[in-house]
Amino acid sequence: MTPTHDPRVVISGRGEDRVRSGHPWIYRTDVADVRATGGDTVVVHNPRGRIVGHALFSDRSQISLRMLTVGEAPAGRDLWRSRLEAAIAFRRSMTIDATACRLVHGEGDLLPSCVVDQYGDYLVVQALSQGVNRLLPQIVEMLVDLVAPAGILARNDVKVRQLEGLDSSVTLLHGSVPPLVSVREGRIEHEVDVWHGQKTGLFLDQRENRIAARAYAHGRMLDCFSYHGAFALQLADRCDEVIALDVSEDAVGHITRNAQRNGVTNVEARSANVFDTLRSMERSGERFDTIVLDPPAFAKNKDAVEKAYAGYKEINLRAMKLLRPGGILVTCTCSYHVDEGAFGQIVYEASVDAHARMAVLEKRMQSRDHPVLLGVPETYYLKCFILRKLG
Ligand code: SAH
Repeated sequence: MTPTHDPRVVISGRGEDRVRSGHPWIYRTDVADVRATGGDTVVVHNPRGRIVGHALFSDRSQISLRMLTVGEAPAGRDLWRSRLEAAIAFRRSMTIDATACRLVHGEGDLLPSCVVDQYGDYLVVQALSQGVNRLLPQIVEMLVDLVAPAGILARNDVKVRQLEGLDSSVTLLHGSVPPLVSVREGRIEHEVDVWHGQKTGLFLDQRENRIAARAYAHGRMLDCFSYHGAFALQLADRCDEVIALDVSEDAVGHITRNAQRNGVTNVEARSANVFDTLRSMERSGERFDTIVLDPPAFAKNKDAVEKAYAGYKEINLRAMKLLRPGGILVTCTCSYHVDEGAFGQIVYEASVDAHARMAVLEKRMQSRDHPVLLGVPETYYLKCFILRKLG
């Protein structure tokens, strides 16, 4: 039977080594004995009975344990509160030029599988494991105390919850949250649908890359995979004209409305497949001075990596051909399966095939409110290179 008073899990020597190396995830294959139920915060022991630390336990996921502490220190309410407080205080200290940002980035804030985004007066949370799902009422209580938001929404309609055996749901957890929340990012206002939008409504992880890219933007611009036009709108005042592409009609409607709301008149949004459009633009001899490539994750898992490489290479190659000399390419991947080295290689190979000499101006990553935990490559998912076409 599983006692509820002292939930504990014994891990293998290999699991213990992993904890010592700083990785918070212990896989099922390294679990030797379980006396706990899914969602428990457990004491983790090594094969000799020594305490390794405390962790969130999942009885469904391949990731059985997510370490909260290493050593004897307990992982109760006080730990959660102090880590939430530290994560939020850090964001406040960063002088973020926006009213929306990520307050808690899971593993990157030592709060594994817990995500909290702020949109103005509202918070959106995601519980990505059984453990955080169980703790959600207490986390909400702490967030109310620390941030005093007007409302908190759970966007628990995330695929990874299936791996945990958790339901898919969007639930109001505190106060009220309107259908659209108005936030500012740099000089641009966005009306965000936090109930249904992709991620939690905005791609907050690209905020700093948009601002950085703005410094180089000029002439005729093409924003590929535009979603609600966040890159297009942020860069538009530096450009003569902007074409924003997204395959989703709904997204295109948002781009147009966002442009109107901000008094931006030089952005044209088109519903189109980027692969087809880049090819036909190349055939018809179109040219651009600034191109943004911000595709969805082509490689969602290891098996899809090879196909993903081909996809990334194709769009980069076409974009380089469409650029005029002196043109700027802002190219991104948000697959952590494609690491920085691999992405650099893809972009390089694309440049060879495009007969384009490209200079790297900046190698960037996700915004600083999405911290990367050293030794945990899974937390370094977004790479963004800014390049300039020479010749
Ligand atoms: N650049 C955006 C985020 C892009 S998310 C931002 O900064 O906010 C990826 C977008 O690509 C989604 O909106 C999705 O609808 C779109 N998309 C996916 N496949 C596509 C394709 N083949 N052609 C055009 N758009 C595509």
